[in-house]
Amino acid sequence: MTVPCSRLAPSPTGALHLGNARTFVWNWAIARTRNWQLVMRIEDFDGPRIRPGAGKAAMDTLRWLGLDWDLEPLVQSHDHTPYMKRIETLAGSGSVYQCHLTRREIGSQASAPNEGDGELVFPEELRPAMAGNRGPFQWEEGSHWRFITTSDHRETVQDGVCGAHEFEPATECGDFVVWTIRNEPAYQLAVVTDDIRQGVTDVVRGNDLLPSAARQQLLYNAFQQKPPRWWHLPLVRGVDGRRLAKRHGDTRLDHYRDEGVPPQRILGLIGWWCGLIPEREAISSEEFLTLFDADKLPSDDVVFSKEDEAWLTI
Ligand code: GLU
Repeated sequence: MTVPCSRLAPSPTGALHLGNARTFVWNWAIARTRNWQLVMRIEDFDGPRIRPGAGKAAMDTLRWLGLDWDLEPLVQSHDHTPYMKRIETLAGSGSVYQCHLTRREIGSQASAPNEGDGELVFPEELRPAMAGNRGPFQWEEGSHWRFITTSDHRETVQDGVCGAHEFEPATECGDFVVWTIRNEPAYQLAVVTDDIRQGVTDVVRGNDLLPSAARQQLLYNAFQQKPPRWWHLPLVRGVDGRRLAKRHGDTRLDHYRDEGVPPQRILGLIGWWCGLIPEREAISSEEFLTLFDADKLPSDDVVFSKEDEAWLTI
């Protein structure tokens, strides 16, 4: 029997804040209490948004909090070969095609609405006639590659936290990008490639990525691989209901560390947010594991309140 395995996958686009921390701590705790393997991956295929040194900083911060993981971290940008092999497989089976259209050209199509999060939906009418042909993968300047989505196909994501959800990728995003104009794998392809090669059986992350799970399942099917089990956690929001971000003040873990806030206080807040303790209370990472119960996770998003902030800073 294969050992279950989960991963911590920070994007080095900025410092970790309390919202990321809650997901990482819960991920670490479910892995450690169930004797899963836990691996680290630095997801640094995000071009201009990547900040040098932010990957190492994220790992330092997580260690300060008391988290640990197994094996050496995998840094995506260190080797493009595994992703090239995957895109070649997709090109060879006629599942992807090269596209030269710009965002502006796609957006100017009347039937290309913008999804809520600013994602551009790629309308089927723009799919070139050659799409579906098998052939070699060859990247050309100014082009990207898209994965073909089937119209009317519904993909069900079974999730250990939020239950079953149905998606229709063809209308929600259309043919999605798997290889970018920067000649790098796009997020969906990079994650699936890595989750397969790192032996990941359990993916734990924020529920903003739930629609991505459906797209990733399509890639797993294309590779004839079994998708992992999914655990998409509710998010941490500011008092205005929006996802925790800079506008809510400085909630970076490094900020609290620099202010002298002990990690036990942060773990206590996260433990309370995860339903493990009835009140905020300083706890160590060992105590967190002793208290951990995946079933106690509240199903609603958490709000980072003034009281939470006061608990950390006073
Ligand atoms: N690197 C992504 C993030 O930090 C997580 C991607 C994933 O878990 O699939 O939001």
